[in-house]
Amino acid sequence: MHDETTPNDSWALETLAIRAGHQRTHEQEHGEPIFPTSSFVYASAAEAARKFKGEEPGNVYSRFTNPTVHTFERRLAALEEGGRCVATSSGMAAILATVLALLQAGDEIVASRSLFGSTVSLFDKYFGKLGITTRYVELADLAAWEAAMTSRTRLLFAETPSNPLSEVVDIAALADIAHRSGALLAIDNCFLTPALQKPLALGADLVIHSATKYLDGQGRAVGGAVVGREKELEEVFGVVRTCGPCLSPFNAWIFTKGLETLNLRMRAHCENAQALAEWLQGHPAVARVHYSGLSDHPQHGLASRQQKGYGAVLGFEVKGGRESAWSVIDATRMLSITGNLGDVKTTITHPGTTTHGRLSDAQKEAAGIGEGLVRVAVGLEAVEDIRADLARGLDALI
Ligand SMILES: *Cc1c(COP(=O)(O)O)cnc(C)c1O
Repeated sequence: MHDETTPNDSWALETLAIRAGHQRTHEQEHGEPIFPTSSFVYASAAEAARKFKGEEPGNVYSRFTNPTVHTFERRLAALEEGGRCVATSSGMAAILATVLALLQAGDEIVASRSLFGSTVSLFDKYFGKLGITTRYVELADLAAWEAAMTSRTRLLFAETPSNPLSEVVDIAALADIAHRSGALLAIDNCFLTPALQKPLALGADLVIHSATKYLDGQGRAVGGAVVGREKELEEVFGVVRTCGPCLSPFNAWIFTKGLETLNLRMRAHCENAQALAEWLQGHPAVARVHYSGLSDHPQHGLASRQQKGYGAVLGFEVKGGRESAWSVIDATRMLSITGNLGDVKTTITHPGTTTHGRLSDAQKEAAGIGEGLVRVAVGLEAVEDIRADLARGLDALI
């Protein structure tokens, strides 16, 4: 193994996504190789001893390190402008490893109210059991974040923009609030990816990814990653290596190849989403569209400053509540009825009875999840075909 392509400071994101982290073997292959092996061998007992002790760099066992996984980690670290990346078996494993690595019993988390459902369960049900408590606040309300902090707060955790209402928080301001109290800020950057938003450059300490979504972008594999400074990531690595939620080499290879088209895909996702949001806004059966790319979105200005694009997840409210929302979903013939997102295939779901179905009526109201709300994760089909598929149900409501 030699000739590792070192990320060059002057390379643009488009170049890093294609070139960073590639380790060419003696075969001189052009594409990134896969190493489907659980363990590695040594030339001598002495070499084995040095590698086990960590005195000499090199692979020992694929729960610790694997060259294919390493390529993905280096490439994503370069894109997120982080010192180090640790890949995990899923996005949830990335959050689990981060909290296990950096918090202990008695510590507190302050988190956005608008988080991925399993993240909330992880915080409440499992970290709660370990004596780590979480308080939830309105994503965009900086005063609420500040008020929820105590001397025990170690971690602030947010997704921005939120799902499915596209609310946005000022990452730099949130980082200031965290750092004033000696806490860390973690941003789940799943919805925008480094092609559209770089939380570390804005002051966040940790970036979380579900690679399952846009990093792959084609719905082929489950995986995750944490990116940040060497200091914290060495601890995260320790958890993954010891507790075992490591990424498989095959999935790492899929994600590495996925990153090569990330920038192109995200630009196309955004273009489709913008066109669809504008069309929905003008449709007489639609009461409201939630998309930060629309000029009447409450945080359009902040989103425009902080993000290079507005992403491709949007919510819209149809007039007539659940019955109307379901009829629009059921009238589609091409769109996939599923809660997943971050795929070339457009997906559609009714958050109130699926992704957010476990919330009480009061929680739904507080989170703005109405009965008429439909979420679309806009894919890369021709936008006129996506529009036609939605128009069938929407036109029938007028
Ligand atoms: C899907 C998702 C996760 C969890 O990722 P998995 O790969 O499914 O474990 C976490 N955060 C966000 C925002 C997600 O969309």
